[in-house]
Amino acid sequence: MTAQALDEYDYDDDHSDGLSHPKPRGADFSHGIALYLEEVSVWFDSFRALNNLSLYIEEGELRCIIGPNGAGKTTLMDVITGKTRPTEGSVFFGQTYNLATMSTEQIAESGIGRKFQKPTVFENFSVLDNLLLAAPKDKRVMGSLRRRLDADTRNTLEATLEQIRLTDKTRLPAGLLSHGQKQWLEIGMLLMQSPKLILLDEPVAGMTDAETEHTAELCLRLKQNHTLIVVEHDMSFIDAISEKVTVLAQGAILAEGTLAEVQENEAVIESYLGR
Ligand code: ADP
Ligand code: MG
Repeated sequence: MTAQALDEYDYDDDHSDGLSHPKPRGADFSHGIALYLEEVSVWFDSFRALNNLSLYIEEGELRCIIGPNGAGKTTLMDVITGKTRPTEGSVFFGQTYNLATMSTEQIAESGIGRKFQKPTVFENFSVLDNLLLAAPKDKRVMGSLRRRLDADTRNTLEATLEQIRLTDKTRLPAGLLSHGQKQWLEIGMLLMQSPKLILLDEPVAGMTDAETEHTAELCLRLKQNHTLIVVEHDMSFIDAISEKVTVLAQGAILAEGTLAEVQENEAVIESYLGR
C-alpha cells in the first residue's frame, strides 16, 4: 500500500479506545471440524450430480479436490454456499450453522467466501475501490463525503494488498491488470470479508506458469489463517499446495489421500488420470 493511496481515506478513530474490538464470528469449530457434509445428494431432474457424499474438512486444513469434468466439484461448492440445495443429506459449517437452511448472503456472513471460476472484478474501478467495495456492508465507505476507513478495514486492506501482491497497483483500474492479477484481486475481495473458510474453484485456470507459482504461494500463506477448499486440474499446482486430496467422480468420492497416494490408485487412474 502506498502511503498516498491510503491517505486519501481518513482514518476513523472516533470510537477508538486503544483496544481492538474484533467482531465476533459465530462459527463454532470446537470439535476441530470446519465443514461437515453428510450423505449429501443433489438431483437435477433425473440426474444425480452428487451421490451420497460425505466429507469432513478440519479447521485449518487445505483440502484439494480433483476429478474429471462433470464430477460434481462445482456443485459441491454450490451446495456449501447455498446456491444449490442438497436434495438429501446435511451440510454444517462448524457445530452450529446448518447451511442447508441459510441464504447465500447468510452463509457468506457466517464466514464462507467463494471465488468463482471467472473473475468478476469491476474493471473500471481501481484495485483499491474493488477491495473497499468488497468490505462488509457496514464498513463500506464508497460515495460518502469523507471516505472514512475504520481501523479494522484499514488493517484488513493493508494485509490483503500484501497477500495478493498488488500493493503497488492500488490506483490502477482493475481492467488493466493481467489475468492472474485479476484472479488475485478477486481473492483479495474475499479476504476483505475475513472469511474462515475459503472456496477456490479452478484458481489457476488460464494463468502463466509464474502466476500459477505465485498463486500456490498465496494459498500456502492463506492456509496460515484460513481453512481452504481448492478445486483444480493443474497437477503441478496441486502438488505444490496439497496435503489431503479428494478425488471426486460421478458425484462420489473415488479416493482420498496424499497426491502420490491417489495418483497410484487404480480407480483414479482408470477414471481420471488415464494411463
Ligand atoms: P465439475 O465442476 O466437477 O466439472 P459440475 O458440478 O459443474 O462438475 O457438474 C456436475 C454435473 O451436474 C454435470 O453433469 C453438470 O452438467 C450437471 N449440472 C450442474 N449444474 C446443473 C444444473 N443447474 N442443472 C442441471 N445439471 C447440472
Ligand atoms: Mg467445475
